[in-house]
Amino acid sequence: MTTSAGQLTPSERILMGPGPSDVPARVLEAMSAPTVGHLDPEYLIIMNEVRDMLQQVLQTKNQMTMAMSGTGSAGMETCFVNLLEPGDEAIVCLNGVFGGRMKDVAERCGATVHTIETDWGNVIESQAVADAIKAHPNAKLLAIVHAETSTGAHQPLEEISKLVHDAGMLLLVDAVTSVGGLDVRVDDWQIDALYTGTQKCLSCPPGLAPVTFSDAAVQAMDKRKTKVQSWYLDLSMIRNYWGQERSYHHTAPINMTYGLREALRIVLDEGLENRIARHKRNHLALRAGLEAMGLNYIPEHSLTSLNAVHVPDGVDDANVRSRLLNEYGIEIGAGLGPFKGKAWRIGLMGSASSQRNVMLLLGALETILTDQGVSVDSGAALKAAGAVFAS
Ligand SMILES: *Cc1c(COP(=O)(O)O)cnc(C)c1O
Repeated sequence: MTTSAGQLTPSERILMGPGPSDVPARVLEAMSAPTVGHLDPEYLIIMNEVRDMLQQVLQTKNQMTMAMSGTGSAGMETCFVNLLEPGDEAIVCLNGVFGGRMKDVAERCGATVHTIETDWGNVIESQAVADAIKAHPNAKLLAIVHAETSTGAHQPLEEISKLVHDAGMLLLVDAVTSVGGLDVRVDDWQIDALYTGTQKCLSCPPGLAPVTFSDAAVQAMDKRKTKVQSWYLDLSMIRNYWGQERSYHHTAPINMTYGLREALRIVLDEGLENRIARHKRNHLALRAGLEAMGLNYIPEHSLTSLNAVHVPDGVDDANVRSRLLNEYGIEIGAGLGPFKGKAWRIGLMGSASSQRNVMLLLGALETILTDQGVSVDSGAALKAAGAVFAS
């Protein structure tokens, strides 16, 4: 037998969409190191190193900090299935795709879900949280998205965390598009359960979902009356693999772990503060450039890792995106849900958050929009972005 599949030749892209982001060669090289067994003493050391570095990046001392097998959504399911059981109540904040996904997952756990809703692009106000807590005092947890990748909104968490804890509830946070790019302080902000993914601001390929649980979350898990619905994501077993016992649960994705280890080394080599500042600077420059071209941001509180802008009237959304990809190798994201065909989502995540990428995209976009008949002040975008870089 032969195969018609030829040699694998994916193009080199510039990944400026909602994820995955550009992966540094160092990470890809680390992933090609020899595969060892998941109980090899050398691998166990690597797991400890990954946990230590995750604790630093997540700014937490939580012992229950680990990388789950699977993408960010597996991290989401891990948090919900371990904390919720049938009969529980939960409050889920809904202002985009990922809040909606959390609601779906929480309901599949058999929980009664109450939502706090606001328009896409807005953040959840503390007052709405206070009202919901008052209306549903028996809720076990409140779940909220820190970086809503579908709208670009950057959710403040500190005040909400206080309200949630004063009511004796747990705070569950989706930080998939913030960890590694924005400030995420698990301990200072008293986050009880948090998940992220490798392929956004950590700039590692998709495949692992770092998760951390506070002592309070671990206690809530230990008090469950029923078994965790998911065998695969059951932390009561997986903790024994990441912990002292090292008992086999499922085969860890060894080479993905090598990749994450290298990606975390890169984050810590740069330094969290420097990395957060870099994401901010590149966002401000891109923003100045896009606005100089007449493009408007959707959220009032924008993430620095994701820029969601309205597609200008009369512009062919799909044509712009396919020209960016085919002529410049640049991937940006389309709008989802109510923003389908109406928004572009431009990621500046991890390694992809660079002055080079900002200037390249602005130049390419100016050319394409001009071709589509949009009246763009020639050179204004690059000048505005350049001024931010020069300041
Ligand atoms: C990407 C993303 C997810 C889902 O992650 P996958 O890796 O696609 O499973 C969840 N939440 C947010 C906010 C995301 O941006």
